[in-house]
Amino acid sequence: MSMDFAARVQRVEPSATLAISNLAAELEADGVDVVDLSVGEPDFDTPENIKTAGKEAMDAGHTGYTPSNGIPELREAIADKLADDGLDHGPENVIVTPGGKQALFEIFMSLIDDGDEVCLLDPAWVSYEAMVKMAGGTLTRVDTSAADFQLEPVLDDLAAAVSDDTELLVVNSPSNPTGAVYSDAALEGVRDLAVEHDITVISDEIYKEVTYGVSPTSLGTLDGMGERTLTLNGFSKAYAMTGWRLGYFAGPESLIEQAGKLHSHSVSCAVNFVQHAGVEALENTDEAVVEMRDAFEERRDMLADLFADHGVDVPVGDGAFYMMLPVDDDDQAWCEGAIEDAHVATVPGSAFGTPGYARLSYAASKERLQEGVERLASEGYL
Ligand code: PMP
Ligand code: GLU
Repeated sequence: MSMDFAARVQRVEPSATLAISNLAAELEADGVDVVDLSVGEPDFDTPENIKTAGKEAMDAGHTGYTPSNGIPELREAIADKLADDGLDHGPENVIVTPGGKQALFEIFMSLIDDGDEVCLLDPAWVSYEAMVKMAGGTLTRVDTSAADFQLEPVLDDLAAAVSDDTELLVVNSPSNPTGAVYSDAALEGVRDLAVEHDITVISDEIYKEVTYGVSPTSLGTLDGMGERTLTLNGFSKAYAMTGWRLGYFAGPESLIEQAGKLHSHSVSCAVNFVQHAGVEALENTDEAVVEMRDAFEERRDMLADLFADHGVDVPVGDGAFYMMLPVDDDDQAWCEGAIEDAHVATVPGSAFGTPGYARLSYAASKERLQEGVERLASEGYL
């Protein structure tokens, strides 16, 4: 029997980041020692206090469904965290999701109809494009690569790309895949355009807690942005909780009402005891977050120095744990070669809309990063 698949799934490819990390895992299973710098996942274990809170919640019987939008304690803790960032959202403005990815999916599906235009800042994380396409939207893309991945120097390009027809703009600072943290002037530029053209903006702040010496402004705190910004965050990166699947978004009541329908008809709710662990993460885990952040910063500096020793100048961002290594124009072939010959897994920049680069995640030990650079150099990839 041949199934007649819906256009929405035929419009997209599997996630490139996950596909390459799966390939690396397959090679490893065959006995190949792969330096896997592909997937963006902290190499640290989840902090002990969070694990304990999860186990205790399970033992206490928190194993049933929860209110669809999340347990009140967690939504309150999230509202408090957002208030610390200067954002004014009550618990009723928050939906807790199984991962930030689900939060994004619900937002795109709630706002984008066939033909609606969404603007991305390239390079942009792989799943934005896929989700927009699944929702039936069209894409306008603004390239930041000539500006060392900063947004401020290309605000004119953004102004030229958006119009009254633009429904949604996605801002991700600190950025995956560049690590760039956008300046306040850049965010103000975004605000001016969003207000002028009445554009809703997603502020994906999943790396907000993973920054080096800077404290990024939340877009929704700018004048005129409170009602048009949907702020998204999650526990995967800051708390090394990728496999727990916990994230959230906050926005105006009208959006919460519409997205809440999708949420209740699809996932029902995030996992009960995981939500309890999330409360512990937000309330009692500052120290572990700082320790992981310090380790990432050291690795970033070390990796940039190692590339510089090989004559490769890599633009270094102040957040997240990614770097875009300039490689051949055919970045796909470069990445395939790097994994086959050097056994170093990276993600082609073209998956993020920007060919000519390979994205590296430096959420790996210093020894593995050193090993990765040595292998790339000795196989002629640097
Ligand atoms: N946004 C960005 C920019 C990301 O890199 C990720 C990483 N997967 C997510 C959202 C979603 O992460 P998660 O679903 O693990 O919360
Ligand atoms: N966000 C991470 C990455 O870009 C995790 C993988 C994914 O969700 O795509 O590698």
